[in-house]
Amino acid sequence: MKQLVRGVHRFQDEVEAQKEFYAKLAQGQSPGALFITCSDSRINPHLLTQAQPGDIFVLRNAGNIVPPYGFHAGGESATIEYAIAALDIENVIVCGHSHCGAITALLHPERTENLPAVRSWLTHAETTRRILAENYASIEDEEELVNIAIQENVLAQLENLQTHPAVAAKIARGQLHLMGWVYRIETGDVFNYDNEVSQFLPLSNTPAEAPAKRLLKDALFGGNG
Ligand SMILES: [Zn+2]
Repeated sequence: MKQLVRGVHRFQDEVEAQKEFYAKLAQGQSPGALFITCSDSRINPHLLTQAQPGDIFVLRNAGNIVPPYGFHAGGESATIEYAIAALDIENVIVCGHSHCGAITALLHPERTENLPAVRSWLTHAETTRRILAENYASIEDEEELVNIAIQENVLAQLENLQTHPAVAAKIARGQLHLMGWVYRIETGDVFNYDNEVSQFLPLSNTPAEAPAKRLLKDALFGGNG
């Protein structure tokens, strides 16, 4: 805890040194992207994208999940609606990550027996679980399975995202770009879903947009170690 408090004090020194920037920041925000990722402590969206305060609007929860619209009017729906309809954000990134505990739990329901809230939350990723069960049953390697599930979950959540009216309306106008990323903790690699080849590929300088319609793809992320 002391470390965190010391951090706040160091940050305040930084604000003092960049007074103009922070004063301007206080006037309003116009972030360039909505960044949806997992709550996992090992992901730092600003560090990962080298974004500054004001650059990205962040939505985080266990498993980078987007409940379908209307399922429950929770914080996720409100955050998405505000980002798209009020802040007029034109880019959305759903970013999964390697070694995701939520996705691992999804594949091992017995581990959430005493975690009823987690278990209930993960029902929003039932599509992911079922895709794995029905299409990847022959894969025995645990790490590979989890990596495939992480990728499939990003695609499933991008689909859920499109059930939100503010998102669907903006896509219909060609004003919203969706991207699906997977971040690999140990290397810092980021893979972007390329709709043309139906695979996650290393993020290039001009990343392809993610799918309006999903397609099953090879498990590049898991298969290549
Ligand atoms: Zn996670």
